[in-house]
Amino acid sequence: KLHNTILELKGNIRVFCRVRPLLPDEGCNTEGKIISYPTSMEASGRGIDLAQNGQKHSFTFDKVFAPDASQEEVFVEISQLVQSALDGYKVCIFAYGQTGSGKTYTMMGRPGHPEEKGLIPRSLEQIFQTKQSLLSQGWKYEMQVSMLEIYNETIRDLLSTNKPSFENGTPGKQYTIKHDASGNTHVTDLTVVDVQSVKEVAFLLNQAANSRSIGKTQMNEQSSRSHFVFTLRIFGTNESTDQQVQGVLNLIDLAGSERLAKSGSTGDRLKETQAINKSLSSLSDVFFALAKKEEHVPYRNSKLTYLLQPCLGGDSKTLMFVNISPESSSVAESLCSLRFASRVN
Ligand code: ADP
Ligand code: MG
Repeated sequence: KLHNTILELKGNIRVFCRVRPLLPDEGCNTEGKIISYPTSMEASGRGIDLAQNGQKHSFTFDKVFAPDASQEEVFVEISQLVQSALDGYKVCIFAYGQTGSGKTYTMMGRPGHPEEKGLIPRSLEQIFQTKQSLLSQGWKYEMQVSMLEIYNETIRDLLSTNKPSFENGTPGKQYTIKHDASGNTHVTDLTVVDVQSVKEVAFLLNQAANSRSIGKTQMNEQSSRSHFVFTLRIFGTNESTDQQVQGVLNLIDLAGSERLAKSGSTGDRLKETQAINKSLSSLSDVFFALAKKEEHVPYRNSKLTYLLQPCLGGDSKTLMFVNISPESSSVAESLCSLRFASRVN
């Protein structure tokens, strides 16, 4: 019975671990093999071992992707989950890990290398393809996109045409998060765009990236210190059967999880790090409370968890990627990430 309960608890939150390959300039970091993971031949590899100071730490996740796993291979494992947003589910996919561990690569891919596109563009392609193929069964879908960034517990609209700024806020904008009785989230003043094609979303993603990088020069490498939230809302109606569905797909590139101690931060930087730590630990607390079926789930402890509240828990579906760097110099951070993820899992 206990076994069943555990399976059930784990039902809605899954964790995939992905180890990125060594980059060309990290070549001399390979010695002393600190991480062992399944080879690409073991399709169902779930275990990962990490050695620190001669001590071995073992972890098990729903899946572990070795460094040679392609974007395509990773996408195959999540395509069902993406599909369920069209069936009316609320879906969240997170990328968690220290800066440089491959979160953005996993989500967006490598700029200028279409074959290495990440799961955001792949998900969109699949959704719009399926939308087309369901037309013959009477299904019509409307889709809406919004993109925002959360930095120091402040929301920034990445599709706003008003020049937004973290320092002063965007003039006249509130960005208050509201949930209605039917579980729909509304962020006041946030730009929401109706989209008809992958091309249109690609254009918006580009706009958001530009908007982020403006902030980046202003605020010094901001992208690793803010959470990026891509939201696709799906409204489906079937005229022949009178059915209606409303699904949501949230794809979230989290802020870097590197710890306070290492960054040696003071002043504003310390405030940033504390805000990041707060929201990441709030996320972990929410997952933990959900897994234990606790009555009180502490959604309100951070902007991120409050924003995503209707999409975390209930019959929504959550997947977290924990991204790991293979460098031996990152072993302490990697261990932290694996521990964080195994608490969730
Ligand atoms: P993060 O977003 O976590 O800070 P990035 O996604 O920017 O990390 O990855 C850091 C670097 O590693 C980038 O140059 C990226 O292209 C590269 N990289 C990450 N994951 C992979 C992978 N699976 N295969 C090839 N290159 C990768
Ligand atoms: Mg990144």
